[in-house]
Amino acid sequence: MAHRVVIWDFDGTLAYRRGHWPDCLVEILNEDQPGHGHTAEAFRARMQRGFRWHEWKTEHERVTDPRTWWAPVEAIAASAFMEAGFSVLEAERLAARLSEIYLRRVSWAPFEDSLDALALTRAAGWKNVILSNHCPELPDLVRDLGLDGLVERVFNSATSGFEKPHSEAFRGVLTALGSPRDAWMVGDQPRADVEGAEAVGIPAILVRTDAPSPRRARTALEAGRLIVG
Ligand SMILES: [Mg+2]
Repeated sequence: MAHRVVIWDFDGTLAYRRGHWPDCLVEILNEDQPGHGHTAEAFRARMQRGFRWHEWKTEHERVTDPRTWWAPVEAIAASAFMEAGFSVLEAERLAARLSEIYLRRVSWAPFEDSLDALALTRAAGWKNVILSNHCPELPDLVRDLGLDGLVERVFNSATSGFEKPHSEAFRGVLTALGSPRDAWMVGDQPRADVEGAEAVGIPAILVRTDAPSPRRARTALEAGRLIVG
């Protein structure tokens, strides 16, 4: 029974990818067509809609086969390639590499204070869990980055059907953990993490950004220190 829980966001809070979605398209081209001349900036506008988290107000399918999650995301990438001048066939061929490129482990790393933050809260008697808007492979990523030893559960929007800041994303965590007496949310997104959590009564700490928020910490470790007191 978990009486005290810290709910951590994953991407931008505990770990990060060197390069975001638009950069993935450039990375695909770098390998396929060296000297291509396309930039992430040119792809960025095309990657700002169509992901499940852009339509967080609606419940989504609970994905069991990762291909179900990736198919619409590859379609976004394919349309971005087409807009950049690639033929339909070429765009689809390139977009089919997206999951492999996005999940490539060398592109991911934990922040340097993340393990210390998780160890600190755990040593003080708090259960650490992750709540993320992510692709279905998130648990593998958490394990490969060495975070799994300090994180007891991973709650992932791909499998829950609810994207933060939807209230059910947060309620699902509380329910699964037997309604903990104390809970904190720590994340880097003012709306998805902070407003979403506080809307269901979970106090939240915004980290790694200068955006305004009632409670802020520079790093995950600083947030951990605030939580354990
Ligand atoms: Mg984040």
